[in-house]
Amino acid sequence: MNKTIEKIVSLCKQRGFVYQSSEIYGGFGAVYDYGPLGVELKNNIANYWWKEMTQIHENIVGLDSGILMHPKIWEASGHIGEFHDPLVDCKQCKSRYRADELSDNINSEKWDKIKCPKCGVTGMMTSPRQFNLMFKTQVGPVEESGETAYLRPETAQGIYVNYQLVQGSTRMKIPFGIAQIGKAFRNEIIARNFIFRTREFEQMEMQYFVKPGNDDKEMIDWKEKRKKFYIETLGIDKKHIRFHEHGEDELAHYAKEAWDIEYDFPFGWSEVEGIHNRTDFDLSRHEQFSGKNLKYFDQISNERYLPYIIETSAGLNRMMLAVLADAYWEDTDNNRTVLRLHPKIAPFKAVICPLIKKDGLPDKARSIMEVLKPHFNVLYDQQGSIGKRYYRQDEAGTPYGITVDHQSLEDNTVTLRHRDTQKQDRIDINNILGIIQKSLI
Ligand code: ATP
Repeated sequence: MNKTIEKIVSLCKQRGFVYQSSEIYGGFGAVYDYGPLGVELKNNIANYWWKEMTQIHENIVGLDSGILMHPKIWEASGHIGEFHDPLVDCKQCKSRYRADELSDNINSEKWDKIKCPKCGVTGMMTSPRQFNLMFKTQVGPVEESGETAYLRPETAQGIYVNYQLVQGSTRMKIPFGIAQIGKAFRNEIIARNFIFRTREFEQMEMQYFVKPGNDDKEMIDWKEKRKKFYIETLGIDKKHIRFHEHGEDELAHYAKEAWDIEYDFPFGWSEVEGIHNRTDFDLSRHEQFSGKNLKYFDQISNERYLPYIIETSAGLNRMMLAVLADAYWEDTDNNRTVLRLHPKIAPFKAVICPLIKKDGLPDKARSIMEVLKPHFNVLYDQQGSIGKRYYRQDEAGTPYGITVDHQSLEDNTVTLRHRDTQKQDRIDINNILGIIQKSLI
């Protein structure tokens, strides 16, 4: 099977997972909208992440901080000074590139020797210019006298600047974590690969505050836990997940050690999540810039110190793309496309179909719908042949098809069709809820 990103994009549009933003106006670069199925899938993934962090771990709590924050935060974090990508333009065809994608040595003077990958002309590249990735905006009604603010490029800083308040109100002792899901914005020079790299996206970040000296051990633990999440919770094939360690030249200015969790996307292995040992870099910078003492008092060792931070930082949209790519399957024997999503993250758990639109079958099907819908998302479909109805739902990733026929009226049974195998069982209507619920664990 040739699993291409184009096929996934097309299925996402047709079935209502993801649309290009502002499509009727010709689209808006690198921003996407999530349709009826997409929003359910995205929420399901986010909910599992949230549960894994804040419900399973007694020492991790949640936070929802603002997108706009005091501009000094971005000076302290290093984003104003360091959050740049080098940009080059081809003077011939006006294509734009991130310099580091065209040459390893972006400081070299050799841009007159570089060939444009698009038009093929050599020697027309501009020298690299540094380009800050943060979106600026203006606070206050009068543009000239207003204060500049930034749309946050990561959710992490909201956690750092609130860490003492959270610790104070929860009385948590080190080690403890704070988790947050929210939008982040980066004015990416080249946004590509569908929802992999966009200018507006969602991050799921957890910052784990540890005693300096325990950071290496915590890093090992969190790497293992996070890998497990992809395989056991999201149901991604373990052959498609790997770690990549950042070498000296890749390490961000704040990191002592960094690992990416990568997924084998149709366009190659790429980062979905970063796990970083940020040391006390962020808290010490915020101490310096805010003038506030951010040290933690450790009652066990009777000392004050700035905790080290182990960060797990995942892109929700990238994670969803990994889930979609992994689930995508062309069943050539049966001429159908299937999203083999784990039932627990599938947008809809079952489709309920009366075999025909008369003889009381729709009423019976609706009565099943009423029983199931308080528990999970189900759909009712009476349009078209039963085979077409099933295939539509295979593409949507719906794991079960429930069909009501004339026998259902006599003995209160239905057929339960399994998406991946297309196997059908005859079951008692009273058992449907239990069977589906069991598969959602
Ligand atoms: P990349 O190298 O791909 O630009 P990064 O190393 O800058 O990513 P981080 O700053 O570590 O990324 O951000 C953490 C996570 O946020 C990434 O692993 C990714 O899943 C997500 N992310 C970052 N930038 C984008 C983007 N432009 N679009 C979608 N997700 C993103």
